[in-house]
Amino acid sequence: MANHPVNTLCPALAELVSALQSVIPELRGNGIGTIRQDGSRHTAGLAADIMLDSTDDYEKMIADDIIAALIDMQGQIRWHDILYTDWLPGNRPFHYHIPGGGGGYGGHRLMKNPNHNTALGQAHENHIHVDWVDFSLRIPGDTVFVYDWPSDARSTGFSQGLMSRLMLSSRL
Ligand SMILES: [Zn+2]
Repeated sequence: MANHPVNTLCPALAELVSALQSVIPELRGNGIGTIRQDGSRHTAGLAADIMLDSTDDYEKMIADDIIAALIDMQGQIRWHDILYTDWLPGNRPFHYHIPGGGGGYGGHRLMKNPNHNTALGQAHENHIHVDWVDFSLRIPGDTVFVYDWPSDARSTGFSQGLMSRLMLSSRL
């Protein structure tokens, strides 16, 4: 048995989704993908795909605001990893991931580290992925619960701060 209900967003993810959708109209409706029945981090309720295309200047600006806020507020939101894409001169993609500090993800904490897995990188050109996964909590062979939830996934109480931060950002 897992330490969480099935098909349910972890509390930190539920709060993040509702905070983002309340201040960013573009993310309402299908703008944020969460639970997916594919035996993945998404199935566990520990991951969100924030559908903002890095090749669209307006969506990329919103995405960069969100990522900057997530980095600054990692101590409260306690997410474990972010995947997204920047574009270098000559239209070359920089696929990166940012470890938050927990869960066993490698790389420099709170910095953009190159993601050398090309397929995974290309899959994260049209959305930000953010999660609270801890690899040590994988439930072996399980495709329904997939991972137990780490304590960081139960972080709450950050939504007011996050919404203020995003409303104050320069685009609004
Ligand atoms: Zn994802």
